[in-house]
Amino acid sequence: TISFDINDIRKQFPVLSREVNGKPLVYMDNGATTHKPKAMTDAITDYYERINSNVHRGVHHLSQQATDAFEVTREKLRAHINAEHAREVIFTKGTTDSINTVAWSFGELVKPRDEVIISTLEHHSNIVPWQMMCERKGATLKVIPMDDRGVLDLEAYQTLLTEKTVLVAFNHISNALGTINPVKKMTKMAHEVGAAVMIDGAQSMPHLKVDVRDLDVDFYAISAHKMYGPTGIGALYGKEEWLNKLPPYQGGGEMIATVTFEKTTYADLPHKFEAGTPHIEGVIAWAASLDWLNAIGMENITHYEAELLEYGTKALSEVDGMTIHGTAPQKSALFSFNIEGLHPYDVGTLLDQLGIAVRTGHHCTQPLMNRLNVPGTIRASMGLYNTKEEIDTLVAGLNRVIPMLK
Ligand code: PMP
Repeated sequence: TISFDINDIRKQFPVLSREVNGKPLVYMDNGATTHKPKAMTDAITDYYERINSNVHRGVHHLSQQATDAFEVTREKLRAHINAEHAREVIFTKGTTDSINTVAWSFGELVKPRDEVIISTLEHHSNIVPWQMMCERKGATLKVIPMDDRGVLDLEAYQTLLTEKTVLVAFNHISNALGTINPVKKMTKMAHEVGAAVMIDGAQSMPHLKVDVRDLDVDFYAISAHKMYGPTGIGALYGKEEWLNKLPPYQGGGEMIATVTFEKTTYADLPHKFEAGTPHIEGVIAWAASLDWLNAIGMENITHYEAELLEYGTKALSEVDGMTIHGTAPQKSALFSFNIEGLHPYDVGTLLDQLGIAVRTGHHCTQPLMNRLNVPGTIRASMGLYNTKEEIDTLVAGLNRVIPMLK
């Protein structure tokens, strides 16, 4: 019931036809970054060959073309996440930068004894900025616990939420376990005590249709490079009323209305949060990735990847000594596992010899690894170009390397 031709998709990624260590590449590190369709890399070349110019400042033709293309991406991203206004979409360096922007700017409104809530499932980039903010402002950080499946404990969450809570931050999908969190429900719970909600959407954007208005979140962080787009560019969605209320994160060109040595007034949204020359070609080429994803259809992608999850869970479960971490009923196509008695790094290194790219280690989630009581895991994270045959190759690879290491 797949409504796209996987071979046709794969052909659009030149890197997928290369060999690694004399074997066809099996790329299963999409949680770290995805590969890029030719439509996107062509858009980068086209930008440099035809219109390279700075945006929002030139009267000349090329600058206007660059500005138009730049703003087209903002509008496409707005439509893609169903934000109400394009000015609610701020371009940033990526998810980390988006979270730091909110942690700093929102932090300016935070008072001593206010409380911020995060979850056990968080990436370091959704932990450390809040710790820094709480330290700076004398606020307190609380953590939602989870069960052994990697599902957040919503009863415990309810008890953490009080009138002291000013903000709740958690991911839509966990990069280490694949858990899909109930964002809409958890957001409603936070709003009931008057807290704002910031979602780390780094891992959800490539896999799900995200509708920020339906979820009713206040902030949503995105990285283009994890959704078949360029590196070094991302976005922060924020509700207009919040973005108007927050002070700017960085000062510089583009973000001002008027400057004198006595006083500066700030530009309107979105420019208030976009100091300096942006990553112009990244923004413009990101539109090509969005068009490409939408031509396939996010629902189709979700559906196909669910098949990979089901197939892979079954196939991997049969491997000798296998423990799969993360068995949430709502899960993305990601397999985080350990093989009894073996170090993840050794397994990953031998898989690489077979051309199979996985990630090993703590996945920037050390507190979560401590909760699972493991130093790290082996993670195979699927993208929409992965196939059941590649999962078979992974399983065969494991069956080959495990006896070598035992
Ligand atoms: N959050 C999650 C859940 C992630 O998986 C990642 C990337 N590994 C990040 C945040 C950080 O994203 P970036 O490095 O693109 O800023």
